[in-house]
Amino acid sequence: MSLLEIKNLQASVEDRQILRGVDLVVNPGEVHAIMGPNGSGKSTLAHVLSGKDGYEVTGGSVTLDGIDLLSIEPDERAAAGLFLAFQYPMEIPGVATMTFLRTAMNAQRKKRGEPELSTPEFMKRVREEAKNLSIDPEMLKRPVNVGFSGGEKKRNEVLQMALLQPKLAVLDETDSGLDIDALKIAAEGVNRLRSPERGMIVITHYQRLLEHIVPDIVHVFSRGRIVRTGGKELALELEAKGYADYEQEAAA
Ligand code: ADP
Ligand code: MG
Ligand code: MG
Repeated sequence: MSLLEIKNLQASVEDRQILRGVDLVVNPGEVHAIMGPNGSGKSTLAHVLSGKDGYEVTGGSVTLDGIDLLSIEPDERAAAGLFLAFQYPMEIPGVATMTFLRTAMNAQRKKRGEPELSTPEFMKRVREEAKNLSIDPEMLKRPVNVGFSGGEKKRNEVLQMALLQPKLAVLDETDSGLDIDALKIAAEGVNRLRSPERGMIVITHYQRLLEHIVPDIVHVFSRGRIVRTGGKELALELEAKGYADYEQEAAA
């Protein structure tokens, strides 16, 4: 069975249709890249998958491991194994990063009917993962993302992903704000979490990221849908030719 199946997904924001029939299948073990021009709806797709308020699904279906994602709440989607990383992670003053991570992990375990991790178990796992990611343990005592550099935020997000062990991770790295340090950290995190069971979708405007994360499959997104699918060479072709041809095709 495929891991993620998106069929003819349509969605609107403030009564404006943005997604116009997205079809996408991700199998376990695959890393997909979605590339496309600004404003084509890539982030909207990520938000719709996450179940964010304000995004209205008007047609189509999404299943994760056979579970109808669109009929369940955002926290249930996370418990079902969906993880979304956005480029501008939230700052949470007053909540230590360590506490935040533990709460996120235990919330998921509870939803799945698994027992909470004991404090020593949790500390052991966080320390291991933090070490893998070269995260200074002192950072984990600071409030979530407050005053973190771009690279530190990214590391923190990858740590969260490593702890939650999602079935499907979606990373939206679209905009230009991602510095080279953060980009490499994101890539390392993704590469480390590649596994035969896990699927990943990396959304990006830039070919550059795909020099560090080599995708199995590349999709071109234009005007609210996937208009072309190919292998990793498609990313190079896009770098050379740009998106103009696809935009004209999609408009026709
Ligand atoms: P991309 O990520 O490909 O750059 P987006 O999904 O961010 O594209 O945006 C697609 C279109 O949807 C844009 O025209 C954008 O203005 C619009 N849009 C997205 N989110 C919102 C929102 N919350 N409110 C109003 N318009 C939005
Ligand atoms: Mg954009
Ligand atoms: Mg975007």
